[in-house]
Amino acid sequence: MDNTNKMILEFESKSQNESFARTVVAAFAATMDPTIEELADIKTAVSEAVTNSIIHGYGDCIGMIIMRSFISGNEITVEVEDSGAGIEDINKAMEPLYTSRPELERSGMGFSFMEAFMDDLEVESVFGQGTLVRMKKRIGKQAVKGYTQQPGQSVI
Ligand code: ATP
Ligand code: MG
Repeated sequence: MDNTNKMILEFESKSQNESFARTVVAAFAATMDPTIEELADIKTAVSEAVTNSIIHGYGDCIGMIIMRSFISGNEITVEVEDSGAGIEDINKAMEPLYTSRPELERSGMGFSFMEAFMDDLEVESVFGQGTLVRMKKRIGKQAVKGYTQQPGQSVI
């Protein structure tokens, strides 16, 4: 069976599109038969990345955010890209509790959540040009080891 798939979505950096983006990814990932918890993890990570593009990338301006997602076997990759402000010091930005916008009551935990809820996180950024966040998650890791469901056998 073909177990690869890909999609690309482009949308404006408006706050209402944060829930739109995470719902789209959840619908796309649903073909992988994820658990509710796995789906919630992906949605949280995507929300954090898209919110960052809206707030930090574009700020008071409206720009375009590109979201790509790829499925390969039991792994889903989600990329969130903006052409906004970019990040001057990526290592510092990824430190837990670091925020450049304390006045907005941000907690500086977005990247930490992305790291915690996904299996892999990469951030590429050019200051003044934009940011690309790439996250990967393997679905079905919690399956019981050594247990193979027989065809037609109920799991209940
Ligand atoms: P929180 O996510 O908890 O509300 P936060 O957004 O400040 O707070 P992180 O998501 O961890 O925390 O991001 C850390 C910092 O990295 C941000 O404060 C910002 O300076 C920078 N940053 C993150 N994403 C982007 C982006 N897309 N463009 C520009 N800067 C970014
Ligand atoms: Mg954030």
